[in-house]
Amino acid sequence: MTGTSDCLAIGIDLGTTYSCVAVWQNNRIEVIPNEQGNRTTPSCVAFTGTQRLIGDAAKNQVARNPTNTVFDAKRLIGRRYSDANVLSDMKVWPFKIVEGNNGKPMIEVAYKGVMKQFSAEETSSMVLSKMKEIADTYLNDNVTSAVITVPAYFDDLQRQATKDAATVAGLDVLRLLNEPTAAAMAYGLDHMSKISGARNVVIFDLGGGTFDVSLVTINEGNFEVKGVGGDTHLGGEDFDNRMVDHFVVEFNRKEKKNISKIPKALARLRVACERAKRILSSTTFTPIEIECLYDGVDFSGKITRAKFEELNMSFFNKCMEIVQECLEDAKWEKKMVDEVVLVGGSTRIPKVQQMLQEFFEGKKLCKTINPDEAVAYGAAVFAAKISGQGNQMVQELTLSDVTPLSLGISGPGDVMRVMIPKNTPIPVMKERVGTTGVDYQTAIRVRVYQGERSKATDNIYLGEFNLQIPAAPRGDTKAKLCFKIDFNGLLEVSAEELITGQKETIKITNGKRSLSNEEIDKMLNDAKKFKVEDQNYRKKVEAYNDLEYYIYRTKETMIHDSVRKRLNPKDLSKMDDLVEGAMVWLEMYKLADIDVITEKKKKLECVFNVTIGQFM
Ligand code: AMP
Repeated sequence: MTGTSDCLAIGIDLGTTYSCVAVWQNNRIEVIPNEQGNRTTPSCVAFTGTQRLIGDAAKNQVARNPTNTVFDAKRLIGRRYSDANVLSDMKVWPFKIVEGNNGKPMIEVAYKGVMKQFSAEETSSMVLSKMKEIADTYLNDNVTSAVITVPAYFDDLQRQATKDAATVAGLDVLRLLNEPTAAAMAYGLDHMSKISGARNVVIFDLGGGTFDVSLVTINEGNFEVKGVGGDTHLGGEDFDNRMVDHFVVEFNRKEKKNISKIPKALARLRVACERAKRILSSTTFTPIEIECLYDGVDFSGKITRAKFEELNMSFFNKCMEIVQECLEDAKWEKKMVDEVVLVGGSTRIPKVQQMLQEFFEGKKLCKTINPDEAVAYGAAVFAAKISGQGNQMVQELTLSDVTPLSLGISGPGDVMRVMIPKNTPIPVMKERVGTTGVDYQTAIRVRVYQGERSKATDNIYLGEFNLQIPAAPRGDTKAKLCFKIDFNGLLEVSAEELITGQKETIKITNGKRSLSNEEIDKMLNDAKKFKVEDQNYRKKVEAYNDLEYYIYRTKETMIHDSVRKRLNPKDLSKMDDLVEGAMVWLEMYKLADIDVITEKKKKLECVFNVTIGQFM
């Protein structure tokens, strides 16, 4: 290693449906498997009457507990309750969303029999803490630093909310890295020895919930992003939803049963549709069978690849339009593209590949990097570089990214006055001096927006502040407005009155829609509390299993004639009664406290050891 730091830093791809964690170790990147041996972990959190589950354990029980199993938190993060996408997603989610303070969407679930509300930051932090735990176990260390990836098309609020989630998970965010940029790094590193000179690469990243396209020029170890495009609400989940809608109608037509508002049936149908979608990537037809879907009625359906494609063609077309726009924005012609790299699980869909290949006039698509792991891989490379780990090649990498959306303020007539246009390399600082437009005005109101629409209020509202100024005739007061974007793509806006030096600054991030310090502190405390509760529950289950094993082993021993014959009748009868009683106890005290369980085992051991200890 050439690095200076001993602390390992990890790379986390926090996906809508799956998350992945990787680390630089032993002179290479290692993708870290979870306790099930899986290299990706469902971004899923479940709350039950007794415990909180995260990852595979949560996903595996979704059909039984649909209203308290939360997925897709990434689709909520940094968004308002009134957002059109949130309102449409709410219709298909089995869990409930309610409007919280400041228009924040809150997820409402029953946890240990009590109704609780969690923000998207909080549930995302639970997924992140799970990924941290997976890394901690694998590395036998307490990892505290991470590079976390976000969709390139995430706006400022979504980025800040992701950063807040990481803080709550106990992670120091070394950098928020755009997902396709991370994938480009994985591709670049993998192909470093095979490519010479500059190469123009299109990263086509279609995952579970988001779609990103990035144009990157890779030259040796230099990664220069030239343009990004995308949609933070387009991915595999949408394809699943279309299939679910299709089969809800079919079930209603065939069986006269409407399951559109039945969470349990919808959750089971969704799982079956997602599985069918994957199968259709390698076959052209698949049956879907679900026993007792609703009201004792089985579901038996089928879907062809052609039907699946028809249901989702508008989404696939949208992807191609976004690629087209992205190339136009960056002034890249198709013939300038050397490589088209596929990233994200949904790029396995044959129609998507076919349309993309046709779009690039028959160019062969690059499928050599693992679409599920490339983003975490790239994030881990960057984490190694920033933390001073990694070999010389990693240390010599350079990266220049861009801002995905234009940033500006609302001008007279609600016109969007762009301060930083989209695709500007970051970090960046832009200043502009302006004068007052009204006689004797005493304040300048600065409202900040992000987006490409010419009417400011049609864009994403990020925040606002008032700059107090001395009253003076129109045009006499001058103020300097400054927009600063850091490496993470996060914005800070300040305004300064130039005569008196009066200054106002906002990190948009402290605006009403992101978390206050108090809220973060509260979530940190809750996260600690939940972690302790999870650990205690695990210990309790271990103690119960241990006792159960002990009782069964005793029962087993007692069956043998050789043992029974050697016991006097009184001991034999006492043992039979005790074992029988212990079996009943096990049934009755499944939820007993750990102390009660250990005490019970101790008591049994006292008698059992004396009576049949020599046979066990
Ligand atoms: P990612 O966000 O990259 O982990 O992608 C997850 C999405 O990819 C989910 O919507 C999966 O259903 C989808 N996916 C994974 N494998 C396949 C496949 N073989 N065919 C179609 N979609 C897939």
